[in-house]
Amino acid sequence: MDCKETYNSFIYYIEGDLSHEKIIEFDSHINECSSCSKIFNEIKLTYNIIDNEKDVKINPFLFTRIKQRLENENLSKVSKKYFLYKKALNTVLLSSFIILGIWLGIFMGSINNTDSVNISQTNSEIYYMNDIQQESVEFFLIED
Ligand SMILES: [Zn+2]
Repeated sequence: MDCKETYNSFIYYIEGDLSHEKIIEFDSHINECSSCSKIFNEIKLTYNIIDNEKDVKINPFLFTRIKQRLENENLSKVSKKYFLYKKALNTVLLSSFIILGIWLGIFMGSINNTDSVNISQTNSEIYYMNDIQQESVEFFLIED
């Protein structure tokens, strides 16, 4: 195995993808060639660091925390939606109450007007129906 082939086999050697014969050739070249040995040691070191980084201990509460946070976010989203819905409903209710109040006021006013017209009409009708008020002289005599 020459330097170039050894250099190309570094990763396969570390990953364990080389055949038994190639591993023996690789080892013998690394033992003989100092430059390949130096590069290989550096690559091995880098791989060990990467492996150590991969083996970061997983916090057993990490999943629970993430789940909790997601649930909280969903809850806040739902409550925000609910709050907006409630606000809109309140606005609609308030405006409908105001409109109802105005309409009721107008309606009551019109009822009052017709009543007063009715009352004045009734009063004038009573005046014409009641002849005692018209013949006030007779009424006066009867009183005496
Ligand atoms: Zn070499």
